[in-house]
Amino acid sequence: MIQIYQDIKYLQGVGPKRAELLAHELGITTVGDLLTYYPYKYVDRSRFYTIAEIDGTMPYVQLRGQILSADTVGEGRGRRFVARFSDGTGVIELVWFQGIKYIQQSYALHVPYVIFGKPNVFGGRINIAHPEMDRVSVLTGENARHSSMNFVPAYNTTEKMKRAGLNSAAMMKLTENMLRLFDQPFPETLTPYITERYHLISYDEAIRNIHFPKDAQILREAQARLKFEELFYVQLNILRYMRNRLRKCSGIPCAKIGQQFNDFFYNHLPFELTGAQKRVIREIHEDMKSGRQMNRLLQGDVGSGKTLVALMCALIAVDNGCQACLMAPTEILAEQHLQTLRKQLGDMPVRVELLTGSVKGKRRQKVLDDLLTGEIHILVGTHAIIEDNVLFHRLGLAIIDEQHRFGVAQRAKLWRKNATPPHVLVMTATPIPRTLAMTLYGDLDVSVINELPPGRKPIRTIHMFDAHRDHIYAKMREQIQLGRQIYIVYPLIKESEKIDLKNLEDGYEQICQNFPDCKVSKVHGKMKPAEKDTEMQRFASGETQILVATTVIEVGVNVPNASVMIIEDAERFGLSQLHQLRGRVGRGADQSFCVLVTKYEIGADTRRRIQIMVDSNNGFEIAEEDLKLRGPGDLEGTQQSGMAFDLKIANLARDGQLLQMARDAASLVLDNDPDESLSQNAVLWARLRELRKTNINWRAIS
Ligand code: ADP
Ligand code: MG
Repeated sequence: MIQIYQDIKYLQGVGPKRAELLAHELGITTVGDLLTYYPYKYVDRSRFYTIAEIDGTMPYVQLRGQILSADTVGEGRGRRFVARFSDGTGVIELVWFQGIKYIQQSYALHVPYVIFGKPNVFGGRINIAHPEMDRVSVLTGENARHSSMNFVPAYNTTEKMKRAGLNSAAMMKLTENMLRLFDQPFPETLTPYITERYHLISYDEAIRNIHFPKDAQILREAQARLKFEELFYVQLNILRYMRNRLRKCSGIPCAKIGQQFNDFFYNHLPFELTGAQKRVIREIHEDMKSGRQMNRLLQGDVGSGKTLVALMCALIAVDNGCQACLMAPTEILAEQHLQTLRKQLGDMPVRVELLTGSVKGKRRQKVLDDLLTGEIHILVGTHAIIEDNVLFHRLGLAIIDEQHRFGVAQRAKLWRKNATPPHVLVMTATPIPRTLAMTLYGDLDVSVINELPPGRKPIRTIHMFDAHRDHIYAKMREQIQLGRQIYIVYPLIKESEKIDLKNLEDGYEQICQNFPDCKVSKVHGKMKPAEKDTEMQRFASGETQILVATTVIEVGVNVPNASVMIIEDAERFGLSQLHQLRGRVGRGADQSFCVLVTKYEIGADTRRRIQIMVDSNNGFEIAEEDLKLRGPGDLEGTQQSGMAFDLKIANLARDGQLLQMARDAASLVLDNDPDESLSQNAVLWARLRELRKTNINWRAIS
């Protein structure tokens, strides 16, 4: 009897050499791995076509016929093997550009073949390049199964594997052999009440039909079942973890709305709060007073006014005898927050101090001392705050700005800053699609600021080619004459930092030459923090008109007078990142512009991405598109999140509905069986333990 933990090399048709390839190329080492190496597509072989009816627009077709004649034609690189193939209704050409020798030796004239491939039109005639060929033996009926198999699975393989003969067809053969060895049904991996409730087919049926579906209907059902199951266990894992934590972690009660909050609200608030700001402050306050520890994600598009929300929540903490901290991903941003908070608090008796890597010596010691005595109410800073020697008197609320730079482990470190873990509020301007948020930040509650402060004009986004730099300069001059300021941003990717820096330097030179009357600032990550700061400051105060920078300015920087954002090599940025950068402008009352500069030669994909930016100003819409185009693994934040993204079959961009069902089901299980003791759920808990053991990524979130 075959076992799923069995080493793949003992499977018929594998052996040590292929086993090594499978392990190295695809990470397949056991029978179970092969079992869950699902096809990436299926080719419909449910019917035979006749040559008379095919044209060059069809996808794959299957034909039955014979080779009439064949020969090698052409010279050198144009050399190819051409066979004339007929089924009695017409003649087409089969063409091979590679493997000519093999086909020369193996083809036979005037015997029945089943062929399969994609028709093309070439020189007015139809041909099929590199068709799959199967000899049909009339006597034994061999291959009859092939032709009766409606959906032929296709498996992804690598170049290396193909060279060793391990192509999709070979993978299919291995899988087929293996499945035949499982002569008993695969044991069920979900409980009957779940499969019944969600109308799911059995695991056994699903796993067999995902590889060799009998028809389109059962294929859909098999996919649904396996996707559901995959998502279900991810959700069960997250929700179970979240509930356990809630049961364990009581929070610091911060019920009081007191002196500081009210003083600020009535006397210092610079403008009316938006409805959305009021709502999220209420949501956060509900959490803070609940007696349980808050872990909340605050999503709000760039410019939606998250800082103000952060400040007011910090004041709630202060009113309840606690301290608060606000962490930013960069020093520039931390300092800007410090200034914003101090300015908004005015003469209120709330002390805000800064702690970053640049705060050193005596000044640092003073901050640390006053933090411990509780004289500092709000600490603003960078990652420096989570260092072990930073001790609070009583930290009640930790706010993290721009979560995507902040991993799960760091969040956990914050929890340990107080005997009772502080409430945690994570703010992000990278809107995360709901499906992703449920999976990525499934352990966080979510608040959304879905409204911008009044009076903002939507930013106009324009796509321009770098060859049309004159137009771009003209546009810039226009804005500078209106007294506006301009950002120019260059991509910075770690691997090619040198080249990127050169691009930036060249760009800077060019701008200086073309704008001799302007003062130009330059900011990049290689500069000393103090230098960077001076330059940023010069731009923020209006002393310089143009800022040439790398993405260091991406987050948080607030210069309302800047009205143009020019993004060079825009194709190298993710959509969410482009949206973030664009959010740096449109903060004043005037019409703002964002210019996306690309090369003239860009692919259809890039064109589409740029078009999305031109068409939409809505961060959530853009995030959804980004997810669809790039998949969750490439989205910003997912790498650091520590969440499993090697989903085998489910797709977070497409399977939102299934995900919701899976989450509901997981919730239901946890509601009914909080102690994980019901015998009917034993199979679920056992399976979860097994998955947590085998999949490293799963452990990362808990
Ligand atoms: P983000 O959510 O991107 O962090 P900020 O907190 O930096 O946004 O706010 C962007 C700008 O909007 C700031 O200049 C801030 O003072 C202003 N702002 C915030 N809330 C309001 C409001 N309710 N009405 C008007 N302006 C606001
Ligand atoms: Mg912000």
